[in-house]
Amino acid sequence: MRFPQLLLGVVVGFGHYRSGRRWHCAVGLGREVGTGGPRPDPSRDGPATLIRFGGDNLLFDTGRGVVKQLIRAGVAPAEVNPVFVTHHHYDHIGDLHDVVLSSWLGGRQQALRIFGPPETRRIVNALLTQIYDKDIEFRDQGEPAIGGWKPVEVTEIGAGPVWESAKWRVSAEYVVHGHGLDLPPAFRRRWVCLGYRFECAAGVIAISGDTVECDGLHRLAQDADILVQCCYLADAEITDETTRRLAKLTLACGDTVGKIAARANVRTLVLTHFRQKDAAMLDILALAGRHWAISMFS
Ligand SMILES: [Zn+2]
Repeated sequence: MRFPQLLLGVVVGFGHYRSGRRWHCAVGLGREVGTGGPRPDPSRDGPATLIRFGGDNLLFDTGRGVVKQLIRAGVAPAEVNPVFVTHHHYDHIGDLHDVVLSSWLGGRQQALRIFGPPETRRIVNALLTQIYDKDIEFRDQGEPAIGGWKPVEVTEIGAGPVWESAKWRVSAEYVVHGHGLDLPPAFRRRWVCLGYRFECAAGVIAISGDTVECDGLHRLAQDADILVQCCYLADAEITDETTRRLAKLTLACGDTVGKIAARANVRTLVLTHFRQKDAAMLDILALAGRHWAISMFS
């Protein structure tokens, strides 16, 4: 049995950790990996996590630089399918067009399946019919060597089973990401955010998406071998009302991620989605260490 590999956010495999201690906290310290957030960061690209298992490449979010990261990871964009979208903040879908078009140019033969919250279809349709329609028509009709347009199939989902193959299955949970902010009720109803749970014979990987501690996160992370958890600020960066409000309502930070993982009985905690930082990163590690043995790798 080949163990799944988890790439882009950080690189870790079940096989690497199974023989080690039970508790680990792994923080993506490598340069130019997909562990950043919306603020441009020369050290990190936008949120994107790839699970490779049994010849399949499952991509979760398509942040800034994702296609470049796929190439660096040795994965041709045409080999990626399906794509799972957690929510519609631009740092998570900013390069969705690049995945769609580069996979087509790279020889994708099958329809690219995209799963995401309600309104994902509207976004993809806008990309295909209003923004890149001329590009698609140019290559479709003017460059026959490409072999003609290959479609995209969007499925809008909520909590529950999402998709499965003979070797794995993916389910989703609703997570809380800014729902307590002063947003109009009509907008809040449209603001659907998801986390995902990947299960196979080798184990379970949970991907929090953007969230604070909530019931949905606990359900998707329960007893997971790996939890890829957003962690925007280190403890030391939570210094005023703005950052306290962010940590409470919008994005989990160093003050809660270890507790989340411990409560869900997670084996390996992988932190991602960092605000640009340098030495303050150590504060995240220090805090996580209250609940976890630490393994750092780059
Ligand atoms: Zn977000």
